[in-house]
Order: sequence, then structure tokens, then C-alpha cells
Amino acid sequence: SSRLSANPAYYTDSIWSDTKSSAVKKTFAEVYFSEASSVVSAVEWRMVLGKLLSSSGGESLISLLEDKVLHVSTEDLLPANPEILDGVDDLMQLSYLNEPSVLYNLQYRYSQDMIYTKAGPILVAINPFKDVHLYGNDYIEGYRCKSLDSPHVYAIADTAIREMMRDEVNQSIIISGESGAGKTETAKITMQYLAALGGGSGIEHEILQTNPILEAFGNAKTARNDNSSRFGKLIEIHFNVAGKISGAKIQTFLLEKSRVVQCADGERSYHIFYQLCSGAPIALKEKLNLKAAREYNYLKQSDCFSISGTNDAERFHLLLEALDVVHISKEDQDNVFAMLASVLWLGNVNFVIIDNEDHVDVMQDEALSTVSSLIGCGLEELKLALCIRRMKVGLMILFRNLLYHRDALAKSLYASLFDWLVERINKSLEVGKCRTGRSISILDIYGFEFLIFEQFCINYANERLQQHFNRICSNWNRSFSLLRRYNNFHFSQEYIQDGIDWTRVDFEDNQACLNLFEKKPLGLLSLLDEESTFPNGTDLTFADKLKEHLNSNSCFRAERGKAFGVNHYAGEVLYDASGFLEKNRDLLHMDSILLLASSTCQLPQIFASKMLGQPDKPGCHPHRSSGADSQRLSVAMKFKGQLFQLMKAIGKHHSSLHTQTLVVQQLRCCGVLEVVRISRSGFPTRLSHQKFARRYGFLLRQSVASQTPLSVSIAILHQFNILPEMYQVGYTKLFFRTGQIGVLEDTRNRV
Ligand code: ATP
Ligand code: MG
Repeated sequence: SSRLSANPAYYTDSIWSDTKSSAVKKTFAEVYFSEASSVVSAVEWRMVLGKLLSSSGGESLISLLEDKVLHVSTEDLLPANPEILDGVDDLMQLSYLNEPSVLYNLQYRYSQDMIYTKAGPILVAINPFKDVHLYGNDYIEGYRCKSLDSPHVYAIADTAIREMMRDEVNQSIIISGESGAGKTETAKITMQYLAALGGGSGIEHEILQTNPILEAFGNAKTARNDNSSRFGKLIEIHFNVAGKISGAKIQTFLLEKSRVVQCADGERSYHIFYQLCSGAPIALKEKLNLKAAREYNYLKQSDCFSISGTNDAERFHLLLEALDVVHISKEDQDNVFAMLASVLWLGNVNFVIIDNEDHVDVMQDEALSTVSSLIGCGLEELKLALCIRRMKVGLMILFRNLLYHRDALAKSLYASLFDWLVERINKSLEVGKCRTGRSISILDIYGFEFLIFEQFCINYANERLQQHFNRICSNWNRSFSLLRRYNNFHFSQEYIQDGIDWTRVDFEDNQACLNLFEKKPLGLLSLLDEESTFPNGTDLTFADKLKEHLNSNSCFRAERGKAFGVNHYAGEVLYDASGFLEKNRDLLHMDSILLLASSTCQLPQIFASKMLGQPDKPGCHPHRSSGADSQRLSVAMKFKGQLFQLMKAIGKHHSSLHTQTLVVQQLRCCGVLEVVRISRSGFPTRLSHQKFARRYGFLLRQSVASQTPLSVSIAILHQFNILPEMYQVGYTKLFFRTGQIGVLEDTRNRV
């Protein structure tokens, strides 16, 4: 027999230690234990299901499925749930809440295409990566008239609508999870339900059509997801008194601009470029001097042009239809395509080093002339703007600077176009002036990822969301008004009816990590901003400053070179500060902004006015200044501002939470287990006084004077020394913390 030992990461929390001893000894013969694989690393331990045959002296005998019998240390066992609980649709119902039990339950359901499971106030969804036939009119109808009640996004959406109408309180649905987990699909499914129930005026069709537009401009194929969202999105859907959709507003966050000018092997830039190149009608192609995607440097560098199962040309036609639906005129559509083509052609603009002249010049070719005509500016002006001159640097450095400035222009053109499009969509979906308490917001933000600057910001955002989330859960246990919104949690209602004090709930806060980010002047964001304003600041000096000032912070870990670690609630994340300063500064040279301002076309003029902080009045032509860089808010600070607004918005609302996951590691990241733990750290086991007295009354050593169920129950509690903090006595029921009645059951079974 081989020696096995448990993954030390499992279960140090109080609930587990409460239940451990009694459970392994009896009642549940099935146990999980971990099996060491050849590579000894915590992640690779695997818990498998077995049966407990006997145990004595700290050793247990276990049988596995194929009649394999093993000796293991009793300490390494985790209790499994009885078969009757296999596949329960709410993880809260599990008697034993440990990671293998949760995973087993999710797997059990998943194998039967039940991809949704509740975890207290959260809905967990597992990406099926296939059609599961759970959507469409019949299902919508089923959830609407409550003939279906298994966990589903539709049920979440339905609750949101009902409670919004009943209480006139705005609702929000937050969708989180890793890239590829299914957040965007889930957001769309939610919107479909809202549109079906609140539709009628036709605006719901417009709202649904914003999805293909934003996906074309903001999604791209990455290594993890063929349709990965590269921006965060909050859509607020408004309803009128009759419960019909009256409009919507979209807010976007942190578009990954760098993807426009560079992306990793096997990934693609934004879908729209490929759709345009393959789907544009001949006349448009001629007008824009459009070539195949392979002809453009920005697109060909990653050597990936198509996505299997996706027809870009077809998508382009669907996009045109969607643009029509949201009232973007044909003329504006053409302007949009001209901007896209100018971005592509900019990437082909090149520079030549003129030998013996210590000079670099723009190559005068098709790329340059096409950009000039598409942007609507003179050729000479374009050359001048692209050829910033910085003396006293080596030619190679100058050359690199030029490419950098060219790319900066391409990136800001694209980002400005994206923002403009969102603004136009919002105009089309405009909500009337009178805001009611009737809106449902859906937040689709990208999940925890590693290393780069955008992720640094996103992880910070997730940290804020997590706090929001913790507070909801704590409020959920604390306040009646919130409890009512989760009235599907019958036991919470029972607390109230039974006069129970549910304030004794412990939960962790992530304030320390938030402080690490937000503290002034010595927090991550402040230090980043300070270093970004130093002309001589580099990523390395930034990383050094962090180490100098934050080394004693328990959420921070210094690493070699430009790396540093942050202890997020989801675990430690290692960051590489390379590119942080440049991305945070995100400056476009004034020459480029003025170039756009001098354009004869409408869109570049609007973009330039926005960049210069002027109201968008097409036709304003600011004077060329000294060439100083424009002074704008840093990216991180702008994002922090957006985030605070977002928190203010969803803080006012009541949130239904909703998480996508794949494996238990992700469950941990999303804080699912934590939430279930918090939820369960109330008093989940409950028995009426009568039932309790009947079940255990015969164990009493002394008879009780008054034979009411309540006095019998109390006598039992005293006899068995159940600690006062482990239970509460309600008017009609007893409420216990997890694992408490194990002792009573043991004694009862022994008698
Ligand atoms: P990212 O953070 O990269 O944007 P995401 O969480 O938004 O990722 P999605 O784009 O929603 O992930 O999902 C990825 C893919 O998974 C989808 O393109 C689809 O193929 C599949 N998928 C997701 N949810 C479902 C579902 N409910 N049914 C069937 N397939 C799904
Ligand atoms: Mg997405």
C-alpha cells in the first residue's frame, strides 16, 4: 500500500475543523483523499473518492473504486457527502463543504449538461463549449411563468426584473471569471431574457444589436478564446413603469489599445479589421484602397488571419445590418471604415535612414499617400507629424522612436473611434431624462490574468469588486431589506421569523490589498503616476521605487528586476513592470493631435477636439503649439476614476452575483467558496424544537420539569455541552453552525 498525503492547501478554515472528526469516524463512509502524482506540486494533488473501511490510531483503511485498498493517514481524509446529496443544485445544501466535494458536485451536474449551479447568492456556470439546448423561447417562457426552477441565468434575470418592478430598486448582475469562461455569452443570454420580457417597443432589438458591433470592434482571437473581449463593459438597461424597456446606456473600460499595433503569434487584432478586409464590397475597397489582411503589417505580424468556424465576410454583412439598426448613417459608416483603413495603412508607413546625412525620413509610398487621403490631411503635414525630430540620439533609437510615434497615432485613432462608436450607440439608445428606479445593469469585466499593465488595472478593479461583493454578502446576513431580495434563501427568512441574531458572521476583507493600490502618496497607483511624470523615469526605476517604499507591506513582494508580486484575494499575482510607464503615460505627440485637428474629415476633427479637451465642434483648428506633449490624466488614474463611478453605480443597486468557472482553482479565484463559507458561517443547520426534542430527547439523563419541546431541547444542548456560540434558539426552531449535530447523531446511533 502506498502512502498518501493531503494537499496542505485544503481546509484550514473553521468549518472544516468543526466537521472533520465526527464525519470521518462515521456516517459518511465515503472519503476523499489526495493521491500524489509523480510531480510533487500542490496543484497536482488529486482528491479521489473512496470508502472508509476502518480507522484506528491515526491510520485509516480505504477502498477505491477498482477494489484497490490503501492505508492512509486519517488526517489526510476529507469527508464526502452522502449519495443523496449528489448533484444538489445549490452548493449551500452540501453537508460537507470542501473543495473536492464542490468539484465533485459540479462535475456530477456538468456530466448531465446541468451547467448552472447555485452557490448561495451566486450562480456558478461552467462553460459547456457546445450547444446545451437550455435557451430559447420555451425556456424563457418556463422561467417566466415559473414552471422551471433549476438554476439558470434566466432565473437570475427573472429575479432581477421582478424585484426591480416590485421595489423600484435598480439591480445589477456582475459576471466574472477567467478569459474564455463564458462571461460575454452569459451577458448576452441575460440580455435576451430581459429583451423577451421587457420588449415590445422595438428598442430591445437595437440593444441586442449592440453586441455584434461591440464584439467586432472590441473582441479578438487570443490564445485562450477565439472571441475574447478586450474591454470591460457595463450596460444599463432601463425600464418604464409598465416594465417595458425604454432605453439603455453602455459604458466601456480599458480597451486594450496595444493589440492594434502588436499581438502575439497565433492571436489576431480586432475582428473588425479582418471582417472589413474580406467583407467590404468592391466599391468600398476601391474607395479605401483596401487590400487583403495579409498585406498589412499590423495584421500579418502574428501570422493568423482566420478563425475556424467563423466567416469574417459574413460577419461584416451582419455588422452592417447592426449599424443600420442603431441608426449609424451610411455616411458615418463609411467614415468609420475610412478610419479603420487609415489605421491599417499607418502600420505600413515606413522610414528610411538616409546614409551620410544622419537623418531618418518617411518613405514616400502608397502607404503614406493613402493615409493622408483617408485622414484628410496634407501629405507634407503628415510627414512632418510622423517625423518628430529628437536630436542627439543614435539613428537606431531615433528610428525606434519614429515607429513608436506612428503606432501611438494608430492606437489613438482606433481607441477614439471605439469611444465615438459607443457614444453614437448611446445616443441611439438614449434613455429619457427622467431616471426611474427601474434599471438592470450587466457588468462583463475581464477576469484575473497575469503580467501586463492592462491586467494590473483589471486586477485592481476586481479587488474593488470583491470588496463590494464581500459587503453584499455581509449585508445579506445583516440587513432585512437585503435579505428580502434574496428571498429564495429560505433559511434567511427563517432567521427573521425566528427572531435570530445573524450578525455573528465572520468574513475577511481585502482592504489591505486595496490600500496597497490606492494609498497616497505611497501606493502602487501614486508611485506609478509619480514615476510616469519624471522624464527620466523608466520601468526599472519604477520597480525600484516600489521595492524601496512597499517592501514592508504584507500584500507586496519584491522580486528580481522589474518584477513584483501582489497578494490579491485570489492569490498572489506576479507582475512584470515592463511597459508600465509608457502605457500609463499613453501620450500622443501634440504634432499628431494637431494633424488630426487640421483634417478635412469629420471624425479626425472630433477625435482631436476630445484629445485637446475641447467640446467636439468639428471645424475648430487649434494652432500648432510648441510641440509639447498633451497633458492628460494618466491611464491608471482615469481608470481609478471610472472605477469609483462604477462602484457608486452598482453600490446603489442590489446585485445578483454570478460567476463563471472552470475548475476549483477558479472557484477560489472568484471567491465562490469564500462566499459559500461566509453564507454558511451563519447557522445553516436547523431543526424545529419538536423535531429536536423527539430525535434526541431520549438521550436525556435527567428528566426535565417542563416537558415542552423548547425546554427539552435546551436541556439536551446543556447535557451535550454544545457551546453557546454554536447555536441560536429561535421562536420555533434551533439553528446550528455546521457540524454541530454530529456529536448528537453519533451518540444517538451508538445507543
Ligand atoms: P473573455 O474574458 O476572453 O472575454 P469570456 O468569459 O467572455 O472570455 P466567452 O467569449 O463568453 O468568454 O465564451 C467563450 C466561448 O465559450 C464562446 O465563444 C462559446 O463558444 C463558448 N460558450 C460560452 N458560454 C457558452 C454557453 N452557455 N453555451 C455554449 N457555449 C458557450
Ligand atoms: Mg468576453
